[in-house]
Amino acid sequence: MKFSAMIPVALVAALAMSGPLSASGGQHLSRAGRAPAAEAAPERHAPAGHAAAAQHASPVQHAAGLHWSYDGQTGPDHWGELSSDFRLCKTGRMQSPVDLGGAEIPGKFSVKATYRPGPLTVLNNGHTVQANIAEGSTLSSGISRYKLLQVHFHTPSEETIYGIHYPMVAHFVHIDYAGNYAVLGVLFEEGAHNPELDKLVKAAPPHERGPEVVSGVTFDPAKLLPANLSVYRYEGSLTTPPCTEGVHWHVATRPVPASAAQIAAIHAIVGDNARPIQPLHGRLLVAGAE
Ligand SMILES: [Zn+2]
Repeated sequence: MKFSAMIPVALVAALAMSGPLSASGGQHLSRAGRAPAAEAAPERHAPAGHAAAAQHASPVQHAAGLHWSYDGQTGPDHWGELSSDFRLCKTGRMQSPVDLGGAEIPGKFSVKATYRPGPLTVLNNGHTVQANIAEGSTLSSGISRYKLLQVHFHTPSEETIYGIHYPMVAHFVHIDYAGNYAVLGVLFEEGAHNPELDKLVKAAPPHERGPEVVSGVTFDPAKLLPANLSVYRYEGSLTTPPCTEGVHWHVATRPVPASAAQIAAIHAIVGDNARPIQPLHGRLLVAGAE
């Protein structure tokens, strides 16, 4: 069943502009992907002021030091059983990541990232490497405006397109004034050396370590974005415990390049940190306009 056959264009347009992307009677996707993720985003519904602090905190701290991982007894299949705080990882019906191949509604949707260069602050939270972003970078999506908190990496990509992983994805994590999260995913394909990414590759801590400013380096997150920010869009969750839902997901339809050596360098640090693909459970998946 295709959503495009069921949903009036006007409704689709409205959904594409704002509000949760959900629809009844949708199909389930099979678990195409596998591979182990780390959202590293602060929890939603957090008290005011928590967001700024949380971008410096390890996600492990979400559940009082509870350990989780990407394989074995603390791997993704067990996250929902590790703690009542992680329940949504098992019971949630709007979980991420998802396969983007089923996006059949052309949404004419694009976002505008106004990212600015600033100091490079990097950390390794034990699940991913992350750059914290100073105030001043924003993402406009429909009628919503979010500020950029941090960017982190997964190898391979968590998102798949027709079941295929890209070798790496960057997740730009944003928050709005009300504490709602928006993530912009940018897929990497193997190709040319990426000079901006290289600043992160060179500074990435090989082991768990708190945030440190890299002296003498200016990092411009805008330089990690494709020229045209057409996006897939859907409503999802953090891809790491506690798998909090209500996250507005955007994934750029166009990948950006990174060299094999750069991707290998990030993978050597973070390992396989992609959560398996989650079922759509009837959610709308809006494809980006070309
Ligand atoms: Zn992520």
